Amino acid sequence: MSVRVRFAPSPTGYLHVGGARTALFNYLFAKKHQGAFILRVEDTDQDRNQEQALIPLLNSLKWLGLDWDEGVTIQEKLIKSKGPYAPYRQKERLSIYKEKALALIKKDKAYYCFMSHEEESEQKQKAIKAGRSFRVFSPYRNWTLKSAEEKIQQGQKFCIRFKTPEQNQNYPLADLVRGNLSFPSDSLGDFILIRSDGFPVYNFSCAVDDSLMKISHIFRGEEHLSNTVKQQLIQKALGFSAPQAGHLSIILDKDKKKLSKRSGSESVQHYKKEGYLPSALINFLSLLGWNPKTEKEFFYKKELIESFNIEGLNSSSAVFDEDKLLWLNEEHIKSLSEEELAQALMPFMKNFQTEISELKRLIPALRSGFKTLKQSAQILNLFLEGGFEVKESALEVLGWPSSKKLLESWLDFLKKASKDYLTLEEFKNFQKAVQKERAIKGKEFFMPLRCALMGQPEGVEIKLLVTLLSRDKLIKRAETALKQT
Ligand code: GLU
Repeated sequence: MSVRVRFAPSPTGYLHVGGARTALFNYLFAKKHQGAFILRVEDTDQDRNQEQALIPLLNSLKWLGLDWDEGVTIQEKLIKSKGPYAPYRQKERLSIYKEKALALIKKDKAYYCFMSHEEESEQKQKAIKAGRSFRVFSPYRNWTLKSAEEKIQQGQKFCIRFKTPEQNQNYPLADLVRGNLSFPSDSLGDFILIRSDGFPVYNFSCAVDDSLMKISHIFRGEEHLSNTVKQQLIQKALGFSAPQAGHLSIILDKDKKKLSKRSGSESVQHYKKEGYLPSALINFLSLLGWNPKTEKEFFYKKELIESFNIEGLNSSSAVFDEDKLLWLNEEHIKSLSEEELAQALMPFMKNFQTEISELKRLIPALRSGFKTLKQSAQILNLFLEGGFEVKESALEVLGWPSSKKLLESWLDFLKKASKDYLTLEEFKNFQKAVQKERAIKGKEFFMPLRCALMGQPEGVEIKLLVTLLSRDKLIKRAETALKQT
């Protein structure tokens, strides 16, 4: 059997890191088994669907490098479906769901129901009062098709409900991650397949599409466990085979609460903006609920594909540890060549007319302090044209009586220097000279000098600054700072 897996987001907002982890595990499994990774868009929930969320969501997946083989794609800003089972947007497949629902009615596995919301909530209230768990009992369950059709002809609104099989035993579920599970037979009730507005509910469209699109395996969050039971019942009733499903562990935040969708900082976009590398985010996400069974934690995507396996998936909750993500990001930044790093940094330098060659000149000396692209760009900016201003925090230091004397000597020294860049040795000679001739040393030397180099008394090492900034820049900066003494 060929492996076919899918990621099936509902465009209700940005791509959450939890969703990205689901996509990643499906992707890795597909690639490992030379299978297909499919992107299906589940957009039939009229209330929750946000059309404008779709393109950013797909772009986040692309940025992560989780390319898909079939499904919804963006071509010249247009959303299209590509692949043998197109369309892959559920909104464009409504006639298929309708046809399948009618087939179930014909087989007496589904029925038209005319219950109002009020009737249903009345039943719910009664169950709550009696301390029973709620499942709906429709008076239309055993109506003949003929009577139901007559009622529809009279213009009565209806939905289509699944005739959940009555059984004494629990519903079994063989889970790829959790082993054999079972669900109480009275936990489901006759759930809706097609709502009164004609749109299918998620469980129905998902079950139909997974079968029609020949999906072989599904990896998704544990919140879908009870959905899987329903989907498998639907597939069985339709005479389809069901994909094998595995439910991933829950992801917790550092306070051990479920990583929610509240602040926006859990989005893939957020990490992109903050200067994380996609390779680092993928590496980090892969370790949430999957154990590579080795001490190694740094993985390239290629290595993840090679080592990913179902046996390593576990059901115990995983903690989203920001510190670990930052560490992995540093490691992935270290692994880039100068050229790759310079390219990755360019989008973060866009406010400054930076040349890539200029970045490549600075990177070797500075890269050991790089943690994120954003923070690296801030460091690099100090060395570029327009990156200098005397900050508020420099004023006190520049006001010291010795600062003026020091900066005058510094300027004098720079103007006499012959080359475009200073050597460390020349700088050390200068340091010795001011110490001897003007008795300026220690913090009276370093702090005002830093203000004249980067506009503030703390930060990047002086030794780096003096050798990486051109003599012209050093002079300009010293003159600006001198005005504030
Ligand atoms: N559209 C569902 C969601 O976003 C898909 C779940 C699934 O079947 O994988 O939660």
